[in-house]
Amino acid sequence: MSSDDVDGNKILAEALVAQGVKYVFGIVGIPVIELSMAIQQAGLHFVGMRNEQAACYAAQAIGYLTKRPGVCLVVSGPGLLHTLGGMANAQMNCWPLLVIGGSCAQDHEGIGGFQECPQVNLARPYCKYSARPPGLTLIPTHVEKAVRLSLYGRPGVSYLDFPGNILAQRVSDSKVVHTAICPEPPLAWPDPALVSQAASLIVRSMRPLVIVGKGAAYAGAEVIVRDFVRTFNLPVLPTPMGKGVVDDNDFHCVSSARTTALQHADTILLLGARLNWILHFGRPPRFDPNVRIIQVDICAEELHNSVPAKVAIHADIGTFTRQLIQQLIGHAWALRYMSPWWGQLNSKSDKNKAVIMKMTQDTRIPLNYYTVFHHIQEAIPKDCIIVSEGANTMDIGRSMLRNRLPKHRLDAGTFGTMGVGPGFAVAAALWCQDYAPDKRVICVEGDSAFGFSGMEIETMFRYNLPIIIIIVNNNGIYSGFDEETFQSIREGGEVTKVTPPTSLSTNVHYERMMEMFNIKGHFCVDIPQLQRALQQSLQVKDVPSIINVMINPSADRKPQNYAWLTESKL
Ligand code: ADP
Ligand code: MG
Repeated sequence: MSSDDVDGNKILAEALVAQGVKYVFGIVGIPVIELSMAIQQAGLHFVGMRNEQAACYAAQAIGYLTKRPGVCLVVSGPGLLHTLGGMANAQMNCWPLLVIGGSCAQDHEGIGGFQECPQVNLARPYCKYSARPPGLTLIPTHVEKAVRLSLYGRPGVSYLDFPGNILAQRVSDSKVVHTAICPEPPLAWPDPALVSQAASLIVRSMRPLVIVGKGAAYAGAEVIVRDFVRTFNLPVLPTPMGKGVVDDNDFHCVSSARTTALQHADTILLLGARLNWILHFGRPPRFDPNVRIIQVDICAEELHNSVPAKVAIHADIGTFTRQLIQQLIGHAWALRYMSPWWGQLNSKSDKNKAVIMKMTQDTRIPLNYYTVFHHIQEAIPKDCIIVSEGANTMDIGRSMLRNRLPKHRLDAGTFGTMGVGPGFAVAAALWCQDYAPDKRVICVEGDSAFGFSGMEIETMFRYNLPIIIIIVNNNGIYSGFDEETFQSIREGGEVTKVTPPTSLSTNVHYERMMEMFNIKGHFCVDIPQLQRALQQSLQVKDVPSIINVMINPSADRKPQNYAWLTESKL
């Protein structure tokens, strides 16, 4: 054996380094334990988590934040199967992710190998690329391709499969085919004729609206998009994770007149958002049936989806917006016709704000959502990263918690996945350590949502991550029951036949999970307690905190004009 012999683990670890990967999340076991060590020896972060799904959520959040895929490393069979939900979530959100699965040794395939499983095929529906490198020497080639496919075009997921025998094999380093780092994706430039068409539609519009989605956040287009809406005084509506591309506090942000803006806009400029359920499919009754849509997307196949666009532009949002500004300069005068539109939006917005303000002033116990969120918003740093999931908790929190900066909101997203919060928060906190050490991560969870990945609190503790978890606790899914009603429903009946499926145990002291680490959590039933808990948690810089806020189990959202977003019209 010559001294330049390397094994598959080392080749793979170094190939990840060569491709600019920095963070690996996962759970180790046979056959990837040595790989995880090789990964650390190569200088990468390895973050061991408590469930593969959560590891996969963390890896994809780091991909969204850094525009370089995070890796999720898992074991064979069940390990990879647990990861599929996370892969689907990343693929749906268009976030870059590289999943690496160990798999059973090739000579055990077909004869009942340990955790034998058709992993390349299982991963394929949730991926842009799913492959098993044919041997040691081609590992770097496949890693480069996997990273490239995760980043180029519409970002998404790659899966690479490594049988245990390949990882353990050795080969002379001189035989390994090394690859250069996959460069940043090419910027797609818009067709200038289409930019002109877009400009003339906007100039002729009486009621224009700019919708910014998380594609605009991913594009890093915030500076130019802010410049655009301010220069031409245009109203902007963010999607949930498009929040912060334009500051939520900016006068141009019309989130509090969302329904009016969508229903009455005559021209919509869609920047990096799909016309899916989140945007009511772009159709009536939420949209004007005659609305003219100018759609900008990096994914050509997305253009005209759900409704035909008047102008469909395949381009990066930054390059497009820069050119659009050039075309519009000199036409700003035309936009003066918009003043009635601004009047309509502002008056609706003022009305909605007044209704909400009133609800936030109700401090009766048990508390309501709006009061709780109002005081959270008052206390938290204005540039923090907000992670949020749950049903009402996420929906109400979206309007009450403001984002000043892009990519500062991570939530259940396009796929509406519950359980993402703690994993996203772990990734966000690591990102803060590297890029913004004073920034805090606030993870606002419904009590049901928290249950999916709650054990990641141990991960947060192990890696000294000062994440503040706030559990908005209403004893259930959507809503729960007070203690007395809960007990009386169950009395005498067979509990599994009578306990309402949406209910959870009442008054659960989730904050006591902190006692596993000899730390006290916070249990709050009123506003002064919540204020104190937030203040104290913000002082803590090296461990997570849990604040468990009890709210009225039948607290609800402000009445909506329309039924639940997902209600079918069939
Ligand atoms: P949201 O949930 O915020 O509405 P979506 O995930 O539905 O956002 O849509 C984001 C869109 O942004 C996707 O269609 C994706 O292809 C697109 N996208 C991603 N990056 C860019 C970019 N740099 N330029 C243009 N479009 C982009
Ligand atoms: Mg709940």
